[in-house]
Amino acid sequence: MQNRTLNIEKIQLYLREFCQARDWDQFHTPKNLSMALVGEAAELLELFQWLTPEESQSIMKKEKTASAVKHELADILYHLARLADVLDVDLESSFWEKQKLNAEKYPVEQAKGSAKKYTEF
Ligand SMILES: [Mg+2]
Repeated sequence: MQNRTLNIEKIQLYLREFCQARDWDQFHTPKNLSMALVGEAAELLELFQWLTPEESQSIMKKEKTASAVKHELADILYHLARLADVLDVDLESSFWEKQKLNAEKYPVEQAKGSAKKYTEF
């Protein structure tokens, strides 16, 4: 695994220029971007849809399926980064804010080894 830090701001700046050059801002409304984000997530889901749990765990062992998974993850990141940019949301701050809430909702002593939703504790 490569040791790189994901730089959301760098990605957002790149996408701003990429989209401006193609005059795509007119299509990148929050509604369209949120729909595209879910669409890309569905494309990722499609790669796993009919696999057994074991097959899903080895999907990265075949070059063709590994490439497809990587590309769908990149598409999801594209739309997530772009949506956050258009909405002026600081994605990193939002992420850490939500993780703090998740840690409160899922205390280790109650959540460890459990797949229950926090409302079931
Ligand atoms: Mg895609």
